[in-house]
Amino acid sequence: MSPNSAPTVLVVLDRIGAPLRSTDQQLLALAHTVAGSPESVHVLTAADADTTRNALDGLHLGSVFCADTDSNAHDAAVPAEQLADLIEHAARQTGATVLLASDAGEVSDALARVAVRLEAGLITHAVGVDAAEAGISVQKSVLAGAYTTRCAAESTVCITVKPNVVAVPETGLPAGTTPKPQPVEVPVSGPRVTVIERSPVESTGRPALTEAAAVVAGGRGLNGDFSLVEQLADALGAAVGASRAAVDAGWTEHAAQVGQTGATVSPQLYVALGISGALQHRAGMQTAQTIVAINKDPDAPIFEIADLGIVGNVTSVVPDLVQRCEKARQ
Ligand SMILES: Cc1cc2nc3c(=O)[nH]c(=O)nc-3n(C[C@H](O)[C@H](O)[C@H](O)COP(=O)(O)OP(=O)(O)OC[C@H]3O[C@@H](n4cnc5c(N)ncnc54)[C@H](O)[C@@H]3O)c2cc1C
Repeated sequence: MSPNSAPTVLVVLDRIGAPLRSTDQQLLALAHTVAGSPESVHVLTAADADTTRNALDGLHLGSVFCADTDSNAHDAAVPAEQLADLIEHAARQTGATVLLASDAGEVSDALARVAVRLEAGLITHAVGVDAAEAGISVQKSVLAGAYTTRCAAESTVCITVKPNVVAVPETGLPAGTTPKPQPVEVPVSGPRVTVIERSPVESTGRPALTEAAAVVAGGRGLNGDFSLVEQLADALGAAVGASRAAVDAGWTEHAAQVGQTGATVSPQLYVALGISGALQHRAGMQTAQTIVAINKDPDAPIFEIADLGIVGNVTSVVPDLVQRCEKARQ
């Protein structure tokens, strides 16, 4: 990609559905900001044509590609190895110089493969993407959130973007007549990867931790009573997270752990209840836009990064907070 030329952007949406998830809207909003015009924003989905048409209906886009699921009836979901073939096809057809995908599981695996095939750069865990005259520049949060780095892309670049780091404009995404999805043949699974079973995770009714706009997390200070975390999460429409101490104590499942050896989250709001703020915990949440901490120790390190801190006992502060949130929602 030469500096000064407006980028052509391909957005990869692997688990699309109607209505569009907020993280998918964020990627599209980012693509429109980075590209010169709506015609320079192209989308590839791993879904069939009907699902794709419904999900993207009314959006102004250059072209839309989807999976020709009839070409491989073995598996409704497309594994990374095959997804890489679809992405490569759409990238070559559109001449995309910037490929954007969410920072999650199989799609980032697929994008890494595509970067090799296209001899493109690969930047993962982006917290910001800017299109300047000199070219694309990408921000990353590194060393447990202590530094933000900026990387410049000199060629075609594949970028995975963390959820909730981009705001969708209040006016919504550019509207227009959505191009008809062009089905791309899904190759039959190669010998290296075969998906033999998929078991859906039982839904809690709460948003997924890594995609949620708000997270309420509990630590050792909860003293075993995680219901306080759940009540506040439900009052805020938030996901439930936890420190490793709370997970190790068996108060909640490992999937809820936030930090260096758990999930990385970057919600708009992160509420830490009875969490000290150890470096390994911060590594997973420091990029949250607003951090609220409730801790009875005024010297707890979490207050160093909190935007709002309440020094107090969770057992008295949280029920009051839940009541106020519920009242505010009525
Ligand atoms: C290699 C490695 C990887 C790690 N990975 C992770 C990771 O991914 N995620 C992670 O979280 N940790 C991780 N850890 C552990 C980390 O170092 C801390 O031990 C852990 O985060 C502490 O959890 P905590 O804040 O819940 O507990 P503590 O550090 O014990 O803090 C509890 C806090 O609760 C407060 N408190 C107590 N009672 C109350 C009350 N009634 N009301 C209000 N506040 C109260 C206390 O003042 C204290 O600040 C890792 C450690 C290592 C070595």
